[in-house]
Amino acid sequence: MDNCIFCKIANGSINSNTIYEDDLVRVFMDANPVSIGHLLIVPKKHYENILDMPNELLMHEQIVAKKMLNLLKDKLNIDGLTLTQNNLYGQEVKHYHLHLIPRYVNDNIDFKHEDNKSTINETFEKLK
Ligand code: 5GP
Ligand code: ZN
Repeated sequence: MDNCIFCKIANGSINSNTIYEDDLVRVFMDANPVSIGHLLIVPKKHYENILDMPNELLMHEQIVAKKMLNLLKDKLNIDGLTLTQNNLYGQEVKHYHLHLIPRYVNDNIDFKHEDNKSTINETFEKLK
């Protein structure tokens, strides 16, 4: 899709802080993290939401999420990981994506976007 920001990130024509990629998906850091280490998994091909996603690709993405949980535990010592995914109303970017939101004991996340932008580069150095 020509004017889709996540297509551009997924195909590498716009730089992103990429943590992992394979033929089907790319994992990169959310630009406005809810917590330290907030990642997004996107399919390389454009699908708008979960209704359009092939089941095999949903399965693959969950397997990649498992890998990322191990990486986040290793590198950032996270205590938990919340997976969220918005469709239709409430979905800001209309290219399917799964949020991986690290949890830390007593983090009191209220899931409003706090200003964690200053930590992105430092966190990327640990994860890449
Ligand atoms: P949604 O509400 O669609 O589930 O969430 C979209 C997410 O994408 C938000 O958390 C937002 O911070 C993130 N985001 C939007 N545009 C960009 C971008 O250009 N680069 C990155 N890395 N993240 C983005
Ligand atoms: Zn797209």
